[in-house]
Amino acid sequence: MDKYKVLIGLEMHCEISKTNTKVFSSARNSYDDTPNTNIRPVDMAFPGTLPVVNKEAVRKALMASIILNCKQPEYIYFERKNYYYPDLPKGFQITQETKPAPVGIYGELTYEVGEETKTIRVNNIHLEEDAASSTHHEDTTTINYNRAGVPLLELVTEPDFHSAEEAVSFLETMRSIYQYANISEADSKKGQIRCDVNVSIMDASLDEKDPKNWGTKIEIKNVNSFGGVRDAINYEIKRQIELKEDGKYDEMEQQTRRFDEESGTTIYMRSKVDAIDYKYFVEPNIPKFKLDKKWLEEIKATIPPLATERRDKYINELGVSPRDAKIIVKEKPLADYFEETVSLGANPQSAANWINSIILGHLNKMEKTIEELFLTPKMLKGLIDLVESSKISGKQAKEVLTKSLEEEKDPVKLVSELGMSQITDEGELTKIIKEVIEENPTQLESYKKNPKLFDYFVGQVMKKTRGKANPALSAKILKQELDK
Ligand code: ADP
Ligand code: MG
Repeated sequence: MDKYKVLIGLEMHCEISKTNTKVFSSARNSYDDTPNTNIRPVDMAFPGTLPVVNKEAVRKALMASIILNCKQPEYIYFERKNYYYPDLPKGFQITQETKPAPVGIYGELTYEVGEETKTIRVNNIHLEEDAASSTHHEDTTTINYNRAGVPLLELVTEPDFHSAEEAVSFLETMRSIYQYANISEADSKKGQIRCDVNVSIMDASLDEKDPKNWGTKIEIKNVNSFGGVRDAINYEIKRQIELKEDGKYDEMEQQTRRFDEESGTTIYMRSKVDAIDYKYFVEPNIPKFKLDKKWLEEIKATIPPLATERRDKYINELGVSPRDAKIIVKEKPLADYFEETVSLGANPQSAANWINSIILGHLNKMEKTIEELFLTPKMLKGLIDLVESSKISGKQAKEVLTKSLEEEKDPVKLVSELGMSQITDEGELTKIIKEVIEENPTQLESYKKNPKLFDYFVGQVMKKTRGKANPALSAKILKQELDK
């Protein structure tokens, strides 16, 4: 029995990348364009400009709120969080902080950790604008305002996680939800996901449902990869247990730390004892609006099938093995690729096999995404059909697929270029087999006494056809001809 219980709460920021424009302006929501090209006067807080709420961003935020089983507010409105930073030209961020402003409060989500199912409580999910992004160089800092005003969702959980593994499984589930619901690409490599991780420890014998028993909350800001979240939590647990054992835990103050990727440690940034007062007030330039129940119903009805639903369909309707189905739905683009291949008529389990072995292996090796893959679902279907109709063997297909990915050539074309396709024509095979028998009269005599020589003839047929003879069919014909 462990002496301590770990409590972890997450604040997960995810950009809504799937809207055309920013949350309060008509600038394009695409910050990887040339820096400082996607900006409207309102993003730069020019005097006299007014924000206009992007309905699609609100719709997507409400969809996330519904999926998280949250309560939606009666009125949608926004608030100002006042602070100054160069990446925030207005001097305030438009957000939804104090209850009941957020698009969702008091929800819960069930997620899987390995084979187990767990449920955590969601405190709230709110819609806000992202800040610009600053890049620190050796002696200067540059700012890209393309990101200023990009719609951002912040999801705040209750401290219901007890290990790094649980926290990361939850984040993976959320990423998948954002992808499948078409809310965001949720790509941490593009900086779309950032997490604040809160960790404390308490005596295991006490009741964790009573906040009085909780330990001092340590907040680790802006961890931008799931691997980072895992390492930061594990380091922090170790650090806090050491403090406890040394009798120094109780004098530790609430603080904000940052995660240092290189050393895998967390580093003290500032004390949280005197919290910054952001002087929140209702954003006066955006009128409150009543949330239409019918609109909410419509949003609910249009939630696309999420990963678990797709996984169950692959298993139950398409006959894909549970193991393969689970791998395929991990990333939506991969599931889309699989479904397209199957919709073209490819055998589902074969498609799953090739995707999960050679194709994923290739993508990992090349550090590419499925969207960047040369091989289209149509090409993969072509290759699968060649195997299904015994034109080539599975072993040959493996060779062709590998070569096709390496050389970026259509596998079906490669098969004919390499003269690979199997001989499955009965007449043609019979002719070849007759020739082989005629060319080996002594072996034929021996075969009559010793049937083990059958394999010798198989070998000769393969040699003559350079491995292209269909094995099952050749064996059948060979038997007939030899036993005549
Ligand atoms: P703040 O205003 O400092 O951000 P909140 O009370 O809003 O604090 O909590 C923010 C996050 O901290 C939430 O995810 C919450 O679950 C988590 N949290 C609160 N108390 C603890 C604790 N004792 N241990 C771990 N996480 C905590
Ligand atoms: Mg916080």
